[in-house]
Amino acid sequence: MENFDWKNLSFGYVKTDYNIRCYYRDGKWGELEIHTEEDITMSMAATCLHYGQEAFEGLKAFRGKDGDIRIFRPQENAKRMVSSAEYIEMAPLPEEKFVEAIKKVVKLNERFLPPYGTGASMYIRPVLIGTGARVGVHPADEYLFCVFVTPVGPYYKNGFKPIDVIVDRGHDRAAPHGTGHIKVGGNYAASLKSQSWAKKQGYSIVLYLDSAEKKYIDECGTSNFFAIKGNTYITPASHSILHSITNLSVMDIARGMGMEVECHKVAFSELDSFDECGACGTAAVVTPISKIVDPINGKEYIFSDSETPGRVTEKLYNRLRAIQLGEEEDKFNWIVTV
Ligand SMILES: *Cc1c(COP(=O)(O)O)cnc(C)c1O
Repeated sequence: MENFDWKNLSFGYVKTDYNIRCYYRDGKWGELEIHTEEDITMSMAATCLHYGQEAFEGLKAFRGKDGDIRIFRPQENAKRMVSSAEYIEMAPLPEEKFVEAIKKVVKLNERFLPPYGTGASMYIRPVLIGTGARVGVHPADEYLFCVFVTPVGPYYKNGFKPIDVIVDRGHDRAAPHGTGHIKVGGNYAASLKSQSWAKKQGYSIVLYLDSAEKKYIDECGTSNFFAIKGNTYITPASHSILHSITNLSVMDIARGMGMEVECHKVAFSELDSFDECGACGTAAVVTPISKIVDPINGKEYIFSDSETPGRVTEKLYNRLRAIQLGEEEDKFNWIVTV
């Protein structure tokens, strides 16, 4: 689009031309439908409104250096949405249908895809909701899958700069055997208070510890946690962590750079021994962490100043971006072009 200020986009919502919908009725999924209106109509007794039958996804499309449209690993999101749906008793959307819907919505809204070199990208938001009317607590018999896109700038307004993180011991994002490992709105409802508490004190994000013992690192509210120690990339394993596709990709990139990759329980007390720390996710990409503050004992863990990203973190970020933008060969076969 001409005259669009791509360089100053925030991570916000911009209305685009089309969205794709698919309805589940009478025990089966219908055809993909193209819509132009933003509103959806449903019964006021829909289960998504009362009992949180809702799952979502987030992925991105990029305009490559060669002009091609590149979608980053949509099959992984398709799989994850199936597991989210199954865990909260929703009808799962078949993976091929999911990928087809993603390609379609990106192509139809091509004029909103930020040009190469602007630092912006197209954020894709699929959502699956229970629309069947229920008053008793039961899964719905009808579902709606829809997906829209919106052009976005960087998630953190300062771009690729280290952020400050605070540990919240007063709120839990997810229960030890709850829904932390699936991408459902309920986890986000549980994190909103904690997130505004952090913002009020000047921190970008919250780091959650395991909710049973507050001894191990789980993840950040919208991104996974990783640390660099010597030549090793370390990321926590826990039932209540959402498996980030970005993290999975960064682990492969780290291995490709000759690093060791470890995924296990990480005690909070190990923070002292890390050289670099960061957060990763579709929105955050790879974000360096400059310090982590634990307000209970007033302890600060400092990894860098607020301007200089860690050397390894920056390298990982650059490699991931280069693959997403088609500047580097996609040797992992992650990209789907449309
Ligand atoms: C979506 C999400 C992430 C990031 O996952 P990606 O697949 O990399 O986008 C991390 N943590 C939570 C809690 C999430 O919901």
